[in-house]
Amino acid sequence: MSPPFPAPGFPAMDVAGRATRLRERFDEATCDALLVSRLVNTRYLTGFTGSAGTLVVSRDELVLVTDGRYRDQAAEQLAAAGVEARIEIAQTAATQQELLAAATAGIARLGLEAAHVSWATQRRYAGEWFPDADVVATEGLVEALRQYKDDGELSRMAAAAALADAALATVRHRLGEGPTEAELALELDSEVRRLGADGASFETIVASGPNGAKPHARPGHRRISEGDLVVIDFGALVDGYHSDMTRTTVVGSASPTQQRMLDVVLASQAAGVAAVRGGVECAEVDRACRAVIDDAGWGEAFLHGTGHGVGLDIHEDPRVARSSTATLGVDHVVTVEPGVYLPEHGGVRIEDTVVVTATGSRLLTHAPKEPNLP
Ligand code: ZN
Ligand code: ZN
Repeated sequence: MSPPFPAPGFPAMDVAGRATRLRERFDEATCDALLVSRLVNTRYLTGFTGSAGTLVVSRDELVLVTDGRYRDQAAEQLAAAGVEARIEIAQTAATQQELLAAATAGIARLGLEAAHVSWATQRRYAGEWFPDADVVATEGLVEALRQYKDDGELSRMAAAAALADAALATVRHRLGEGPTEAELALELDSEVRRLGADGASFETIVASGPNGAKPHARPGHRRISEGDLVVIDFGALVDGYHSDMTRTTVVGSASPTQQRMLDVVLASQAAGVAAVRGGVECAEVDRACRAVIDDAGWGEAFLHGTGHGVGLDIHEDPRVARSSTATLGVDHVVTVEPGVYLPEHGGVRIEDTVVVTATGSRLLTHAPKEPNLP
């Protein structure tokens, strides 16, 4: 369970204002109401963190249909978030259908979140549940709002990032003591929780030696040893908000190639962060990172996009990649995480999470990038 909402000590988030901003997008999306089926979007719009529920956002009201397990929790969380909504409790699929049909009565064009409704569900909605409405596919309506973080959100993300910084500082020296990847990941996860996070932001990556050349390797039973590059990519979760950071450590001394990889990725990452500013295209940030790695002759060894938005999801809009058509806005939060992956030498990735400002960016992740153990 999440801590009481809002978490003590953080500035309040303007949860209630979000539905208003969503409604302003209805005309463009050619819908009169949105049926929110993605739970994280329901959380964003209402503060409700339950594992089941459907939210109807119409022009003049919010209706949350959930089940008996969440009767009290839904009421408490919406009240705490300052959100006015009708909460309806359904005990069966049939009642759920009735309640949603009632909540959408008279709505001519009902928007669905097309990227999150299965084909079968869409057919059921259009044919049986809402036969009197035109069911309209919408994409990314709530996600577009979620890109812009308010002060309450930024303070939660800063707390998550600071907590991850502290956890790494406590655990990192152990890399020299020969733990397995899985042992080190467990220690890091435990430290993150011990320091007060609700949990790890995602499955922690500790990838050593040849495993480091696989950008998303899972921690295994390989023992970390002298001469390894070790990629650690992890984060903390605070009141629903994620942090995301990667640091690469060399155990013992780096080979000349490993040292060059570390230098090139560090320069690439700095170039990417320097390119971040409100109004800049995401593809431009990707280009800034890629140019440094291309110049070093390792363009083919940079196997993924440069970064992504972070917030209530660990990966959210905007994507920072070659093919991205998005533009950075002030108060977006994105990662910059170039890497070079060479199976014979290992992997190097360095990742920061930054808040986009009008003139540049502000780092949320502050752990030192020094690759050598003290
Ligand atoms: Zn990461
Ligand atoms: Zn990331």
